[in-house]
Amino acid sequence: MDCRSVREFADAFIAEQLLVETTQQVVRHLETCEECRTEFATRRLLRDRLRTAFGRAVELEPRPDFAAQLAASLRPPQNLSRRSVLRSWWALAAGVAVAAGGGEFLREARSRSRLTALARQAAGDHQNCAVKFNLAERPISLGVAARRYGGPYAALASFVPPPVGSSIEVAERHSCVYDGVRFGHIVLRDQGALVSLLVTKGAGPAAPQLESADREYAIASLRAAGFVAFVVGSMDAARVLRLAQAFADPLSRQLA
Ligand SMILES: [Zn+2]
Ligand SMILES: [Zn+2]
Repeated sequence: MDCRSVREFADAFIAEQLLVETTQQVVRHLETCEECRTEFATRRLLRDRLRTAFGRAVELEPRPDFAAQLAASLRPPQNLSRRSVLRSWWALAAGVAVAAGGGEFLREARSRSRLTALARQAAGDHQNCAVKFNLAERPISLGVAARRYGGPYAALASFVPPPVGSSIEVAERHSCVYDGVRFGHIVLRDQGALVSLLVTKGAGPAAPQLESADREYAIASLRAAGFVAFVVGSMDAARVLRLAQAFADPLSRQLA
């Protein structure tokens, strides 16, 4: 991808709306192109600032003096034109982004893209293992996986999912491989629906969150001790996220 096409994707990339492949192409370009990195970091910083400003505006809205405050804060000081105030604000934002944002932004983009790819593999595992029994390699027991690979497998053998509104049944536990990724896999039944809890090596998000990697399934990612876990199911996304939130703490304690 060249600079021009990468920049056309910038806003969608920052909003995490691109397909996994495109995201990875953009990340590859950003790894080698400092100018685009700076451009992306600047745009994200501006977006974050606008969001914060907008959030504050909504908070302040009911107050009758808000409009007056806003007008006062937008009024250019003395001899400066509004345009030059804006221009220096943009320059300041860009400067901050260059100084602080570039490297960090790239790191975040990389780990974000890894998480999105893993989420898609988790959805593939759910579909091909739990739903269709269609894996290239037969699943092995968690005990065997623990002896061969260490990792989270032994602890998963005794993880009891907490009830979330209603009780959740364990249908099956094992370790399986999909698309080159080994997962600890607990197949659950939640109100009659098949749900997968999949645990693998990697860094999870700070708080459970929905991933948008797959159209057929809702996928939520969560951090579990030093591992990343996914809840995948065909129920509505709110329920999948709720399960992920309910599992996060007990699973972290179990795997710690
Ligand atoms: Zn470039
Ligand atoms: Zn499996």
